[in-house]
Amino acid sequence: MAKEIWAEDNAADAKAKHQNEMVFPIGAPNDAFAKYFIGQSYLAPLSTQQVGIYNVTFEPGCRNNWHIHHDGYQILLVTGGEGWYQEDGKPAQSLKPGDVIVTHDGVKHWHGAAKDSWFEHIAITAGIPEWLEPVADEFYEGLHQ
Ligand code: MN
Repeated sequence: MAKEIWAEDNAADAKAKHQNEMVFPIGAPNDAFAKYFIGQSYLAPLSTQQVGIYNVTFEPGCRNNWHIHHDGYQILLVTGGEGWYQEDGKPAQSLKPGDVIVTHDGVKHWHGAAKDSWFEHIAITAGIPEWLEPVADEFYEGLHQ
């Protein structure tokens, strides 16, 4: 029991520490999309006018499933931590603050945190997402920064 409380306090401390280093708010637990993610993510709407702009925060080890943005696009602006982006058929790409990723219409991909780092990006997204299979654990666990 004491060990569990310690672990919860530790997780809260890690989140607070991450937030202190970030410009944009972490926001609320990303419950609406949780079934399309492995691990815990958070979502903060920055603007929903004209095009959706969201700050997305991933706890260490968290990543979204493979997905496609149909009839649209996605631009990711990396603002914190270390993470990954991968398009189907290509190697995974290590991400750090300042990196910009442009995903074109119809391209299957995933994005998320490194195993041992919080990760944060702003996502500017247009179109309709199609959610696909999770990123396999054995593949993800084998990724190295
Ligand atoms: Mn995406």
